Amino acid sequence: MRRLPVRSHLRRLQGARVRAHRKRARERSALPVHAVAANAGVGVAVLKALVVGGGITGLTAAYVLARAGAGVVLAEGSSRLGGKVRTEVADGFLIEHGPDAFLTVRPAALELCREIGLGPEVVAPRGPESVLVWHRDRLLPVPPGAGMGMPTRFVPFLRSPLFTPLQKVRAGIEVVVPSVGADGDLSIGAFLRRRYGNAVVDRVAGPLISAIYGADADELSLDALMPRLREAERRHGSLVRAGMAARRSARAPAAPMLMTLRNGLGSMVEALAQRLGPTEVRLDARLDRLERGGARYVARFSGGAPVTADVVILATPASVTAAALGDLAPAAVEPLRSITYRSTLSVTLAYGAEDVADPAALGFVVPRGALPITACTWSSAKWP
Ligand SMILES: Cc1cc2nc3c(=O)[nH]c(=O)nc-3n(C[C@H](O)[C@H](O)[C@H](O)COP(=O)(O)OP(=O)(O)OC[C@H]3O[C@@H](n4cnc5c(N)ncnc54)[C@H](O)[C@@H]3O)c2cc1C
Repeated sequence: MRRLPVRSHLRRLQGARVRAHRKRARERSALPVHAVAANAGVGVAVLKALVVGGGITGLTAAYVLARAGAGVVLAEGSSRLGGKVRTEVADGFLIEHGPDAFLTVRPAALELCREIGLGPEVVAPRGPESVLVWHRDRLLPVPPGAGMGMPTRFVPFLRSPLFTPLQKVRAGIEVVVPSVGADGDLSIGAFLRRRYGNAVVDRVAGPLISAIYGADADELSLDALMPRLREAERRHGSLVRAGMAARRSARAPAAPMLMTLRNGLGSMVEALAQRLGPTEVRLDARLDRLERGGARYVARFSGGAPVTADVVILATPASVTAAALGDLAPAAVEPLRSITYRSTLSVTLAYGAEDVADPAALGFVVPRGALPITACTWSSAKWP
């Protein structure tokens, strides 16, 4: 009893220190941006930045740097900007060749859309965000309340024909499975198998996660992609309990998990490209090597003249980044090389509305190896 005031005092002290530390960190990270802008205003040498890779990452970096007053060169190896983001309109159909949505749980994309004038274009899925899963030659609904396939509500899960009674019992004891602790990273699959058992991962969570990330849940890093799960486990001792606590404290109905832009995510690429100001955009400029040139960097391309810059952002695939860094940052090369990529083929088919039943879901996912595809999106049912 007597220790309470001391502990709360300590917590206040620690809280104040953390806040002061965060404030200093914010000031430090904001410095280059202000310095760039101030320098530009008084005619002192403007920071020259090179951004390599004109996908959504490189475009956003170039936009932020240009907005802050830096002189920017954006070098893209192909003949178009956007990278994986590519929207095509053909015969009245809007086709997304790459991503078709962003997750609202990470608000950066939504905030960026609003900042670049696309706020009114943001749209949510047409109906409830229900997804089906392929199970023994038929499509069954993922139990409601199973965020990313992880059960956080008991009743729909108990009613689901996807699991045997024994598998339901195993998943139910999630509430008493001890925490994994904070030491070392592990795969999302390993984390969820420990908490819910194999059936939940193999039948629902794994297929949903691999449909989003294009890779196996057993190969994806928990800390890199879903640190919130570990945090939820640490705070509540269980993901089911974390889900219950979140529902109790929710003041408003949950926001949609996914959002997109009315005319496709390609409009984000166009809007960013229009806001690059005096940025020099070079297409068909493939970076080969990055070298030191005194206090600056010299980038050599297989198409076009070298670029000298004060700062360089490499928004390229990991293997390209590793090759470009060469001797410049040997410690980064091996970890970059160890990142593997999966190739993905996306096929778009169109049917007359009269030829298909109105699907009561956004699409379906497929457990590993059950069909030659991993997922299917019913675009016209998904988006308005
Ligand atoms: C089919 C599919 C569906 C997806 N769905 C979603 C989704 O719904 N939601 C979501 O959030 N994410 C989704 N993703 C993932 C998302 O598309 C990517 O994470 C994102 O687009 C990556 O952007 P980026 O700019 O980092 O990389 P990229 O888009 O890969 O851009 C890298 C750029 O670097 C360029 N480049 C490569 N080598 C060189 C070089 N040597 N010199 C110069 N330039 C070079 C490339 O040409 C490319 O333009 C999906 C991905 C795919 C493939």
